[in-house]
Amino acid sequence: MRLLDELFPLVEGFYVDLHKNPELSHAEYRTASGVAEWLTRTGYEVHKGVGGTGVVGLLRNGPGPTVMLRADMDALPVEEKTGLPYASTTRTTDEDGHEVPVMHACGHDAHTACLVGAADLLSETREEWSGTVMIVAQPGEESLDGAQRMLDDGLYERFGRPDVILGQHLGPQPAGLISHRAGVILGSSASYRIRVHGEGGHASQPHTTVDPVLIAANIVTRLQGVVSREISPSEMAVLTVGRIQAGTKANIIPEEAYLEINTRALNEVVAARLETAIERIVRAEAAASGAVREPEVERFQGAGVTRNDPDTVNAVAAAHRAYFGDTYVIHLPDPSPATEDFGYLGLPDDPRPIPYVYWFVGATPHDVWEAAPGGTPYEKMGNVPSNHSPFFAPAREPALRAGLAALTVAALSYLGRDRQEALEPAPSGAMFPGPVPDDVPIPIPSTDLGGAHEAPAPPADPLGPPSGDRRQPTEHNEAYDSAFLASSWDEPEPADSTHDADMGVLFQSQDEELREEWRNEKVEESTLSADMAAFLEDDEPRRPPAGPAFGGPPPQGSAHHAPPPGPDDDRPGSDYRH
Ligand SMILES: [Zn+2]
Ligand SMILES: [Zn+2]
Repeated sequence: MRLLDELFPLVEGFYVDLHKNPELSHAEYRTASGVAEWLTRTGYEVHKGVGGTGVVGLLRNGPGPTVMLRADMDALPVEEKTGLPYASTTRTTDEDGHEVPVMHACGHDAHTACLVGAADLLSETREEWSGTVMIVAQPGEESLDGAQRMLDDGLYERFGRPDVILGQHLGPQPAGLISHRAGVILGSSASYRIRVHGEGGHASQPHTTVDPVLIAANIVTRLQGVVSREISPSEMAVLTVGRIQAGTKANIIPEEAYLEINTRALNEVVAARLETAIERIVRAEAAASGAVREPEVERFQGAGVTRNDPDTVNAVAAAHRAYFGDTYVIHLPDPSPATEDFGYLGLPDDPRPIPYVYWFVGATPHDVWEAAPGGTPYEKMGNVPSNHSPFFAPAREPALRAGLAALTVAALSYLGRDRQEALEPAPSGAMFPGPVPDDVPIPIPSTDLGGAHEAPAPPADPLGPPSGDRRQPTEHNEAYDSAFLASSWDEPEPADSTHDADMGVLFQSQDEELREEWRNEKVEESTLSADMAAFLEDDEPRRPPAGPAFGGPPPQGSAHHAPPPGPDDDRPGSDYRH
């Protein structure tokens, strides 16, 4: 824990600084400078201004795979209402010239802080691994175009094509919990601008006009039938008309109406069906009202699904489980309908796409989680302040510590994975051909992230306050000390839905004895630190748990009894909105 503990106050300080000084998409100048400065200081070759405000850092450390770590840097036009001592009061002018409040309401400040922290840890431990670390701080995730802009600016041509890409995002799960999902983890999104042209006139003479307000109203109503009537009940789809504007005055029939529509889906076929239906209905409604001029339908923003490579997920999840312990790493039964542009970095249309893993890091303070209404984790997730909420207040320490360790461990699981393999040139496209074999140890260097040479290992509590923190940003919050995932929910009732069952079993599967101790507040350290200490004390690197962590029935006696993901009959009440 030595290095991680030494570094953590700096990461935390950087996070607080970013949180206080959020910047909108593609205006991440100050943030990018902070990232570049940190990377330069810790020995990276740094390139700024990639795709706008993007930053790329390279640490070439001998032969081996190129592992890319990506974080997003942008904030949102939201007025912060968390009441945190380091809450943002920033206001700025947006692209349209409007003054808007700005807040890191999606946790990208945490992603960025964990990114530079992981970069630093990897640099400090470079004697222990071989390969290349590629750090990518991306602008404009919320606008879903930052990744593409970096690619268009020659990200891979100029700096090399990675063998694997790692990314993470804060979510409304209990703070510190790592959630993985093989296959699709995030849905696709598309936004459309619709302009309907009528013929204006006096409100008293409607028969001399073509009323675009009525056309727009009919479009809104008719679109509600798309998901319910045109999409299979077994598929997830969302279609929302989020903006509608027309007219200036009650007694004037306007010339035109304007709508903006957003869709979500978990596969390209459904996304295409939604798009076709929008186009058809808009044109048909305009024609039905006798509009002379064709309406305009323009797609202006979107991103495809985020589809984790299953083998790569297995490898990273195994490393996370070996490091954090089984209790802290779960498999998400269902994808989130939220959207990212992270998937573009994997070159989905390339004949040889780059495998990637994207996971969630829980951010909800444990007291908030405990107090949230709901009998199941999914209900609770829907009732805690989540991403894009003005009340989104991540539990600073556990979320940052988990994010920092998760990114570092995942990177090391590739960089130090098999020295022999790393020393030989990678056969193209087959660097990571399959799940981690049982006999390959995960080579977390036992000397680097911790104090294996400083026996006994310090009983540092990763959920406790940072020690020697010269940049302690706030007073300590007791909530962060509460037992990890304190389990106040009772035995699950007979489940109403498969989600309740899946998640109930997942969460209930924690060791009953440990839960009892938590209830009685006997546990002074979280098992996380215990696991870390044990991990780092081992002379032998820890092996990943045997057997498939995901995608099939777990071995008997495993903590995880959840069935493999079922059909998409119901979706979590996740509140991500990008
Ligand atoms: Zn986000
Ligand atoms: Zn967001």
